[in-house]
Amino acid sequence: MDYLPTLRQEAQALMPDLAAWRRDFHMHPELGFREVRTAGIVADHLRGLGLEVSSGVGRTGVVAVVEGERLPADAPTVLLRFDMDALPIQEQTTHGFRSQTDGVMHACGHDGHTAIGMGVARLLAQHRGDLAGRVKLVFQPAEEGLGGAKAMIDDGVLDNPRPSAAFGLHLWSRLPLNQVVVQAGPLWANAGLFDLEVHGQGGHGAVPQETVDATLIAGQIVVAWQSIVARNLDPTQTAVLSVGTFHSGDAANVISGYARLSGTIRTFDAAVENRLKQRMQEIADGICQAFGATCRLNFSTCIPATVNSEAGAQLMRPVATALVEPQQVTQITPMMVGEDMSEFLNRAPGCFILVGADPGDGTAGPHHSPTFDFDERMLPTGVALLAGAALAYLEQQAQAGGGRPT
Ligand SMILES: [Zn+2]
Ligand SMILES: [Zn+2]
Repeated sequence: MDYLPTLRQEAQALMPDLAAWRRDFHMHPELGFREVRTAGIVADHLRGLGLEVSSGVGRTGVVAVVEGERLPADAPTVLLRFDMDALPIQEQTTHGFRSQTDGVMHACGHDGHTAIGMGVARLLAQHRGDLAGRVKLVFQPAEEGLGGAKAMIDDGVLDNPRPSAAFGLHLWSRLPLNQVVVQAGPLWANAGLFDLEVHGQGGHGAVPQETVDATLIAGQIVVAWQSIVARNLDPTQTAVLSVGTFHSGDAANVISGYARLSGTIRTFDAAVENRLKQRMQEIADGICQAFGATCRLNFSTCIPATVNSEAGAQLMRPVATALVEPQQVTQITPMMVGEDMSEFLNRAPGCFILVGADPGDGTAGPHHSPTFDFDERMLPTGVALLAGAALAYLEQQAQAGGGRPT
């Protein structure tokens, strides 16, 4: 790993390009599966480095492989993943590179991730001779709840060559600049959505005895659901059940015969998730039956929990410690945020890290807010961390199981 200080310097030298790329992406944000401009810039950049590029993987995803020289047939492959999509938010920042697209904003930092990916590609292309295997660079569309990772996997992103590990990062504006969170086990949560329809019997607001009031029944369900985490789950386990929308009725003097709710559930563990869903169904059915109504409960787009492998975190930790101050490498209590990097980690175990990017001015809002911003000085750190992880992983694998360059 004696190449890491050099890598850090080379990444630092990319700062003007990284900031320019990030600001350009920030000014031209694109929603999930519509990252046509972004993907085009990424593909051109990768081609310019002499890499063979596959576009349109998982609709708007881009993939390229950086290959070491004179590799044996069984040389290892590692996957690095960068997400490219923006959010349907009207930007309210005042900086000069604000979103030029009404109602769309890079409010999660994926503009930074895409720029980091372009920087990593450039560094690894320069270090081709040092690579003891292949690095698959995956630029993913539609991370924000639309299933971009799964779309790329269904399109074969994990085939030819098949990666045995995956690494990725999320910049995080609520962590101090260049703090790096590296931990084994769960980092972020399993995230699912649900919606519930309650069918009762509508009628005159003054003749309740002839109605089955969907508003009252759905209200009972919302309240009773809140007992699940408190009374049906092991108190040492974690879960969230949040009802986000509740729509019922159209007129003040009419008892509503139909109500519709939607919300999200978050857990770290599949057994907890199953128990939560089972109790939600039983409570909804039971309350509807008691009141003479019927209901339909649907669960959708479940993103699995983001869980790092022991080996992935063990590889990442010394890389991070060599690139930032050792006391900057830290751990956090797992968060209930969802992230579909988990789809890659579940198939190619590795490590997803957080890199601190607090802009420090006290005015920027959190991720997913209209005033979100981050400190661009984290960009070279992100480049060095992921390029370093790829080099270190391939070196480790080649030494462990043949696969050594000839
Ligand atoms: Zn996000
Ligand atoms: Zn994100």
